[in-house]
Amino acid sequence: MKFWRTILALVSMLGAGSALLWPRIAHTQQSQRVPTIEEYNPKSTLVTKEHKPERAKFPFIDIHSHHWNPTPEHVDQLVKEMDTINLRVLVNLSGGSGEELRKTVATMKGRYPDRFVVFANPSYEDINAPGYGNRAAERLAADVRNGAQGLKIFKNFGMDLKYANGERVHADDAIFDPLFEKCAELKIPVLIHIAEPSAFFDPWDYKNERWEELNEFPQRARPPSKYPSFETLMAERNHLFAKHPRTHFIAAHLAFHGNDLERLGKLFDTLPNMYVDIAAVLAELGRQPYSAHDFLVKYQDRVLMGKDIYDVSEYKWYFRALETRDEYFEYYRKRHAFWRIYGFQLPDEVLKKIYYKNALKLVPGIDPKAFPD
Ligand SMILES: [Zn+2]
Repeated sequence: MKFWRTILALVSMLGAGSALLWPRIAHTQQSQRVPTIEEYNPKSTLVTKEHKPERAKFPFIDIHSHHWNPTPEHVDQLVKEMDTINLRVLVNLSGGSGEELRKTVATMKGRYPDRFVVFANPSYEDINAPGYGNRAAERLAADVRNGAQGLKIFKNFGMDLKYANGERVHADDAIFDPLFEKCAELKIPVLIHIAEPSAFFDPWDYKNERWEELNEFPQRARPPSKYPSFETLMAERNHLFAKHPRTHFIAAHLAFHGNDLERLGKLFDTLPNMYVDIAAVLAELGRQPYSAHDFLVKYQDRVLMGKDIYDVSEYKWYFRALETRDEYFEYYRKRHAFWRIYGFQLPDEVLKKIYYKNALKLVPGIDPKAFPD
């Protein structure tokens, strides 16, 4: 009897307990609607070792930054901020040409000669008049005499830029040959941005991994009705690199092959004059830490540190990914990556090459004494 009374008591307790529990669960489920993709932001419960370097382990060169018509105050502030993260030399890719370039060189290098590098940008204004290539080459030579240390080609080149007759300018068009040959002669690199992430050329549907970014910036979509395909742009770019073997090309943003490192490796194998920066594509490396590590070790002479949009507080993600083995940490720009990233802890020798040695080899006129051997 006692046994059965105990069982009965247990059952009734459970019943009362579930009566207390169930309504609350039901209530929670009813009051919460399904969150939108932007709203859903789960907090990770993972507990694991964290390292958050605020400064790079070695002084570094940022090969990819933009500062249009900087003021002296902006430059003073920049130097103060650069010192806090071990950013030794910043390359301003937005120097322009002619008078604009001279001013930018004076404001940056004139005041801090060993902290800045300025790249020139070509003008396409006279692209329809015969002899454009030679004129562009001469303008570049003048810009280099005025302090430019490289040429930056923006992404409109090869994609949006058109001739007067409406035809698209192709990256490998022969009219640019004198300009790119001039870079070899002047021994300056070309940092070139061709195309966009391949997902921007894909259908903008729920399978597109850049859906969020396209939703935020619909004008970044590159539909086939208006644009050449990603593969067309890659082929033209690779042909451009191949036909100027003496010119050093730094393809921006891992050449948009960060999601296919094997493909990028094959390109490196066939194009010895090709280099890349890692600006704004850290999330591609961070989602494949084993492949990224092995790739960067193998191609350690071909990859350069860069950030793109300047924000002193965002560099630390690069330090953490490149230097530590931290796992599953949030990336700083959700629209680039809804996933979390992992560190791939590069050996010091590889870090030094990516942080500064490769840039020292490619960009003339940076004093190597500020960097360790
Ligand atoms: Zn850029």
